[in-house]
Amino acid sequence: MKPAPFAYERPADLGAALAAMAGTDGVIKIMAGGQSLGPMLNLRLVAPDLIVDIAGLAELKHVEVSGGELVIGACVTHADIEDGRIPDLTRGAMQRVASAIAYRAVRNRGTIGGSLSHADPSADWVSALAALGATLSLRSRTGTRRVAVADFVIGALESALRPGEIVEAVRVPAMASSARWGYAKSCRKPGEFAHAIGAVLIDVDAATARVVVGAVEAAPIVLADGAELFGGRITADFGRQFDARVADAFLAKAGLANATDRHIHVAVLRRAVAEAAA
Ligand SMILES: Cc1cc2nc3c(=O)[nH]c(=O)nc-3n(C[C@H](O)[C@H](O)[C@H](O)COP(=O)(O)OP(=O)(O)OC[C@H]3O[C@@H](n4cnc5c(N)ncnc54)[C@H](O)[C@@H]3O)c2cc1C
Repeated sequence: MKPAPFAYERPADLGAALAAMAGTDGVIKIMAGGQSLGPMLNLRLVAPDLIVDIAGLAELKHVEVSGGELVIGACVTHADIEDGRIPDLTRGAMQRVASAIAYRAVRNRGTIGGSLSHADPSADWVSALAALGATLSLRSRTGTRRVAVADFVIGALESALRPGEIVEAVRVPAMASSARWGYAKSCRKPGEFAHAIGAVLIDVDAATARVVVGAVEAAPIVLADGAELFGGRITADFGRQFDARVADAFLAKAGLANATDRHIHVAVLRRAVAEAAA
């Protein structure tokens, strides 16, 4: 199928993009890499009156380290991160996540901001950045607000973006030198979306464990204090202390009713914990 007709604008800067969005009645869609929006247009799952193409906006490709955070413009591509073209404060964690998204053609065009805005529960950044404790800068004509990635995705293809807002940047805190990172996913075929994701950021010195279970057909399940999965406290032996039965009970309580699905999610989470412990 072909998309329904739409008007198309390619603004010169972010201000012009926000103005174009504000000055149009009807359905407006931002286009970044087009990797998710393109198929949705072709299938006529969306039929916008106007597409505002932000892919060329230099402001949204800007990257800087500021106040202990890596600030990544929304239009930085997965490939930019995979190839190390931007700085890294996560000791390689983001690079590894980026390199396992889909396949290279998708990574060349797909953007970090587009991936989060699309809010697909199976998307890698949705879970990985929630585990890394990242926040988003959301820009509108009236100003900028910050939202934690963990609060941004509120359901399948549903985000906290308000009309007239653009994701401007992703702010990723520097990973402590004592922190351990683990990320695992299960895909039926290489390059496909995951049907289970586990992400953990464990800091034995700080006795903290941030745990995310993703690809659950809704917003990822984020456990900011995951000590209960490790016998109640985080020690250097956390890899062996991981308790699959407690994890299973936790996921059941979080609403995962199907025991087979829980089994897969717990197995993937165990792999993420093992990676962090290795
Ligand atoms: C075959 C295939 C396999 C894939 N496999 C994976 C995978 O394994 N893991 C994974 O994580 N992803 C996967 N993806 C998705 C890919 O990562 C895309 O990058 C991502 O879904 C969308 O990014 P984009 O920049 O192309 O956004 P677009 O497609 O341009 O936009 C997606 C949505 O976000 C909105 N949007 C885009 N940018 C912004 C912004 N800055 N502010 C506000 N709204 C915005 C758009 O309006 C649209 O609704 C796959 C895609 C394809 C086509």
